[in-house]
Amino acid sequence: MDLNLSNLSASTQNNGDSNEELVQVLILGSGPAGLSAALYAARADLQPVVLSGLELGGQVSLTYTVENYPGFPDGVGGMELVELFQKQAERFGARIEFDAAAEVDLSRRPFRVLTQNGKIYRAATLIIATGASAIHLNVPGENEFTGRGVSYCATCDGWFFKEKDVVVVGGGDSAVEEGLFLTRYADSVTIVHRRDELRASPILANRAMSNPKIKFLWNKVVKEISGNGVVQTVRLQDTQSGDEEERRVDGVFIFIGHSPNTALFEGQLEMDEHGYLIVDQKMRTNVPGVFAAGEVADPHFRQVITSAGMGAAAAIEAGRFLDEQPLDQA
Ligand code: NAP
Repeated sequence: MDLNLSNLSASTQNNGDSNEELVQVLILGSGPAGLSAALYAARADLQPVVLSGLELGGQVSLTYTVENYPGFPDGVGGMELVELFQKQAERFGARIEFDAAAEVDLSRRPFRVLTQNGKIYRAATLIIATGASAIHLNVPGENEFTGRGVSYCATCDGWFFKEKDVVVVGGGDSAVEEGLFLTRYADSVTIVHRRDELRASPILANRAMSNPKIKFLWNKVVKEISGNGVVQTVRLQDTQSGDEEERRVDGVFIFIGHSPNTALFEGQLEMDEHGYLIVDQKMRTNVPGVFAAGEVADPHFRQVITSAGMGAAAAIEAGRFLDEQPLDQA
């Protein structure tokens, strides 16, 4: 794979002390999509650089056990899986930088990416795998008590709720799975859902229904979180009668879905009405040479395996793109 560098000034090439570096494949994000893209690009000898983003591994690194990634019949720890992905990509020459994109200019190739550490990458191709972040309830008290009883990660914070009473908000796989995890520590876990039917898959739903520590409150939404330094109560409203009640709790875990991390690309890449990047079957965005993979471009499946598959596909296509359009023809 030849990348023609002849039309680039010396300053855009990595000359040791330069703050700028030209790379053939720059990958934003280090979740399953980003690290799988890194593995495939590295094995194609494209020396990819991965900007890890704020959290190495993305959302899966916060998951206690992943039970549905093939090859691990007994499940695998989320962080352990990320470390294995990373090790495998690095073995073939991928470089992972603990840095994040701050500004992106996709108006011409090589694409320009300024990082939070002040480095500038010029990328012949870009793979965006910036994932998605937890959606907030946007109720009074939520921000004030984040880290003081309000949490978006049971794996991270569950330990602090030993012998406590917590509520989990949401009715999807995340809420039920994280609720189950919290039963390791908490005395009681009450799942508060806005409807009377779970969205979660039957296997998880059945596990939760048969767990004696888990209770369900149906047709309820959280209106306010209150406390004194730490969370003490939630105000719940019945979605059918409109009645409200105060409930004493020690923790509020919120799992009501995610929104894609695409703010950096607004006005530059096509997105759907929820902000997900639009890609075709080959993971191509509307800008030639820019690909996207994983949850940033996937509102439907959002699984570790589908994200990893999208990352691999994006890297294969980036390699083909570089074959067809080396930089001097861009
Ligand atoms: P999700 O499937 O979108 O579920 C979000 C839940 O939050 C829904 O039950 C929704 O209620 C509720 N909700 C949304 N906005 C709300 C609000 N403002 N107030 C109260 N409740 C609200 O999200 P997720 O559970 O994070 O799952 C995301 C994806 O990851 C899914 O595809 C899921 O299958 C996957 N996942 C899989 C696993 C696994 O396989 N083990 C584990 C975790 C996640 P409604 O139901 O009424 O819409």
